Amino acid sequence: MIRKWLGEVEAPPLEELLEASLVAWAAEAAQLEMVSRGICMLGDADGQAIALQQGELCADPVIGARLRELLAKSLGEAAASGQYTAAHLPMEEGPGLVAAARPIYAADGAAMLCILAIAARGEAPPSSDLMTAAALHFRSRFDQRYTEALLQRLLARQSHAERATEREAALFDSTKRLHDQINVTSVLRELVITLETLYPDAHVDLLLSQDHANADARVKPLVFKHGANDLCARAFVEGRAVTEAADGQTHVAVPMTGKQAVYGVIRLVCETPLWERAWLPEFQMLANTAGSAFENAKLYEQSNLLISELQLINELTKRLNQSLRLSEIFKLATTDLLQIFEADYCCLLQFDKKTEQFVVMSANHPGLDSDLFPKDYGFCGTVYQTREPLIVSDYAEKNTVPSKLMQLTGSRSLIASPIVVNSDVVGVILVSHRSANFFSYDNYKLLQVLSTHVGLAITNASLHAEVRRMVITDNLTGLHARHYLNERIQEKQRSDPSGSLILVDIDHFKRINDTYGHQVGDEILIQVGRIVRACIRETDIAARWGGEELAVYLPRVRTDQGYRIAERIRSQVEAQTSPTVTSSCGVSEWTFEDDKISVESLFYRADMALYEAKNNGRNRVFVG
Ligand code: GH3
Ligand code: MG
Ligand code: MG
Repeated sequence: MIRKWLGEVEAPPLEELLEASLVAWAAEAAQLEMVSRGICMLGDADGQAIALQQGELCADPVIGARLRELLAKSLGEAAASGQYTAAHLPMEEGPGLVAAARPIYAADGAAMLCILAIAARGEAPPSSDLMTAAALHFRSRFDQRYTEALLQRLLARQSHAERATEREAALFDSTKRLHDQINVTSVLRELVITLETLYPDAHVDLLLSQDHANADARVKPLVFKHGANDLCARAFVEGRAVTEAADGQTHVAVPMTGKQAVYGVIRLVCETPLWERAWLPEFQMLANTAGSAFENAKLYEQSNLLISELQLINELTKRLNQSLRLSEIFKLATTDLLQIFEADYCCLLQFDKKTEQFVVMSANHPGLDSDLFPKDYGFCGTVYQTREPLIVSDYAEKNTVPSKLMQLTGSRSLIASPIVVNSDVVGVILVSHRSANFFSYDNYKLLQVLSTHVGLAITNASLHAEVRRMVITDNLTGLHARHYLNERIQEKQRSDPSGSLILVDIDHFKRINDTYGHQVGDEILIQVGRIVRACIRETDIAARWGGEELAVYLPRVRTDQGYRIAERIRSQVEAQTSPTVTSSCGVSEWTFEDDKISVESLFYRADMALYEAKNNGRNRVFVG
């Protein structure tokens, strides 16, 4: 078993083990006088001394030196012969010096492990049997130590392997968990947990290049402080791991790379001995996993945001398009924008080209209703000038621009956007909140998009109003068209108690045409139209009823007053037309008490009265 591992485990340091074994063996063999008093020496296979154990005989330096000489000689001989050798050195006085050496083999037939040699004072050198016994004893001590050392190494290796397996498992788990996350915050949380598990003794920071609000203190923005010297900046810019060791610490920065971009840097600082080279590929892999998990979550969040934004836009435009009335569109936009941004106040202003002023079209604060502002005033002025949207994070802190909206409502946050139609700024949207730093950059971008759609709705409504104006207006006289008058009378008959109708017909108009031509005839018609308009109030409705017949409806007016107005028209036509024409008028009325109320009967009776006026000599008014 051990043999099998031997090749894979680094061999224990032989010399150290031999030396320690010599000490242990000498202590156990101390009852042998030559061991306790003499010198024991270990030599390598070449006969070179590697360890020495000196007894009390060495207290005499001369004897000590001689004994060592003798031992060295014995070691050399044993190394050369590979067998037991003995030596004897007579002394002038007393017993001489003796020595013996014996090679020790690791196993039968294996290479020589070492040579044990003993030298002492005596008559005869240690016998071959004694040296064999000593060698066996020594080897057993050495084997024990060697096995222990080997086992230690094996155990160390095993625990290292176990740790590596644990790390691999942790890494695998977290990789899987990282990829399971679909929101950026949980990816970051998972990453921080993984880093803590894998590097408990290191200081780890997560530095993000994109701003991301995160509650975890270990997630920080990546700030480029020292340019090229900054480890993190280098890792980020170069897109590779950068390591630096200083003052016993190792700093490592690894970029968090996804498929599309580098999203940040993971920085690890630890004591240098803790940093194992083997960590780097693993650390790098983790950073890449985190990078792509972050990217996926980010893309997922972005697409969700886009979807919800598109939904918002879709809903807003749908609602705005339900109405073609400008005032309603402004009101709808105000309530919708307040809801979308969860804002406190919203104010929509339209730019009046003629007066060069902003008019508040809609606001949810009564103090702003129908307010007028010069084109260079406040935030609408800024937006008008720059044609760009703007965001104010804290108006209380920095209020260089005067703003009635902000001051009146005590707002601190603001987003504003121009309403651009055909590259003209036709209005401005202001959205505010009483809290500071309320609106995000995304809010600001969204308002910009929404304002385009508000602009489109305004254009639609304006175009519609223009078309309608064209439809309900008579081209020649500028008076209303007949169908419009009909609609309005019908409306009034549903809501009013009474009303009068005047029909005006130019006398002998055919003759005018015949005498002066159609163009002059047209001119007369225009003049009469103008006279009629001048004779009535804003609330009265004048229309061109037919060729040269005009009609005026007077809401809530009875025939006595209707007669007076008709008479005024008649006299003014006679007095003011050129060439002079006269006109005849028929007046009729309806009241809520009538049996049958209808536009037709009202006209019929006016027509009858007109007929009477013609029959009675023209240039007069008759009431039907
Ligand atoms: P009276 O009403 O007094 O009975 O006579 P009249 O000549 O005005 O009567 P009539 O209704 O027969 O003729 C109306 C004329 O008005 C016929 C037409 O040539 C002319 N007329 C109708 N519309 C226009 C128009 O738009 N421009 C011009 N120049 N003439 C028009
Ligand atoms: Mg006529
Ligand atoms: Mg006529």
